[in-house]
Amino acid sequence: MVVGVEPGEVAASSAQTARPGSLRAHLVEPTTFVRIVELVTTRGPLAAANAARVVALGTDLARMGTVHALSITDNAGGHPGLAPESLGARLRAQGQEVMVHLSCKDLNRNGLESRAWALAAAGFENVLCLSGDYPGSGYRGQGAPVFDFDAIALLELLREMNRGLRTAASTLPPTSFFLGAAVSPFKRYERELMPQYFKLARKIAAGAAFAISQIGFDARKFDELRRYTTLMGLDVPLIANVCRLSVPMARYFHRGAVPGVVVTDELLALVERQAASPDKGKRFFHELAARQVAIARGLGYRGAYLGGHLKPDEVETIFAMADAFGRDDWRSFAGEIQFAQPGEFYYFAPDDATGLNSNEINRDYLADRTPEARRARRARAPLAYRLNRSVHDRVFAEGSVGFRLGRRLYERIDNAPSARRWLHVAEQAVKIPLFGCRDCGDCSLPEIAYLCPESQCPKNQRNGPCGGSHAGLCEVSDRECIWARAYERLKAYGEAETMLDRPIVVRNGGLRGTSAWANCFLGRDHQSKRENS
Ligand code: SF4
Repeated sequence: MVVGVEPGEVAASSAQTARPGSLRAHLVEPTTFVRIVELVTTRGPLAAANAARVVALGTDLARMGTVHALSITDNAGGHPGLAPESLGARLRAQGQEVMVHLSCKDLNRNGLESRAWALAAAGFENVLCLSGDYPGSGYRGQGAPVFDFDAIALLELLREMNRGLRTAASTLPPTSFFLGAAVSPFKRYERELMPQYFKLARKIAAGAAFAISQIGFDARKFDELRRYTTLMGLDVPLIANVCRLSVPMARYFHRGAVPGVVVTDELLALVERQAASPDKGKRFFHELAARQVAIARGLGYRGAYLGGHLKPDEVETIFAMADAFGRDDWRSFAGEIQFAQPGEFYYFAPDDATGLNSNEINRDYLADRTPEARRARRARAPLAYRLNRSVHDRVFAEGSVGFRLGRRLYERIDNAPSARRWLHVAEQAVKIPLFGCRDCGDCSLPEIAYLCPESQCPKNQRNGPCGGSHAGLCEVSDRECIWARAYERLKAYGEAETMLDRPIVVRNGGLRGTSAWANCFLGRDHQSKRENS
């Protein structure tokens, strides 16, 4: 069982006060295939021409009556835009169901909580919780990344708000957010894919009642996500993200401009060929999207999330095409829409009959988990990593002799500023060269296989990877993602599968610049306690 999930909790959160016509009600209702369309807000006030166009688009989509919810982005691509609730309020006033994105890139935990109260006050329920893209350019340069929270901490906060957030003074009235999360199965390597799946489990445990995939063009991965969540008992509605491509968009994705979205050489070549047709590939692009909607429905997804800067008539065309296909047509489409990356890893073995997956787990994956394979990996593990584990177990693990001695020492010097300062200097002298320590005072090294998220993860992700890695590399730097590295290190010890099975890490910003060793021994850091307010 996933740590933190109480039996029936997922079902309960899905069923909570399902207002007729709401996204929650539609997703609870198993016979409805939910249709969500994405709107991207623009920079400038509602009255500006660009924003007015998006409002008109949303209004037209609302009038069509065939879309169950409009989903509004939050500073998409990391660039500033109108807050989704401004546009959302206008659409809600017209009776349209709206989902807003809430990301952690531009606001700290207090800003996020404040924004959540504002959403609740304005009557918004559907919130897609995201870590978010790395900030891009804004007024006079690039915005500084915040990432005080990640998607998991945000989900936990909003779930607590739903339960009635307890503060030092009182318990606040409960909100009724319906929380969603994103998941990114379109990863090339095992070391980046599996942590995505583990993180999805954590998101569900933290309160996500539905999950939306990343944009992808590989039916086998869509099938795998569905199969994996079923196998692991992650019983939340899955929604497939379907992007209606265009030539510029395909080129944009192909050069990796949108973190986590992959258009392979093969797909780009197909797109370029189709673009040479008399209608410039228009029908092909619509049909590709419609086929993906049909595949999602055939695979048992509970809905499709349609994006790609579409006009209302295009949305209508795509959904109408998807509806017009025969009941089993999706099976042949699924065999065709498989644009995998070179050597892409799949958790399940292929099924030759369907071209998708069988229920058998990838044999190479299992072979890598035998005692012999682990022994061989341990022998190859970096010496520094092995030493770090050993020191941690002997000194920092609660109950060890070293921990008892450490606590006694730090208790003794806690009221001696000079000794405290010298020990802090000694700690930094070890941790800066070894780990690139940034003195956050709330150390996560043991949780990420001794890789420092402050210095080596540009988004400071402490509860698993963001969705942006590409072929194992970080979306921001050209270094290997720390979570992919951690996965490989932990594999040698049989700990990869459980790498995220622990309480949610919420870094305490108040500890910055203080001794992490003192905070560990004296029970002040996140390892020892979870502060509530
Ligand atoms: S290191 Fe990994 S988790 Fe951190 S920002 Fe880069 S891709 Fe995301």
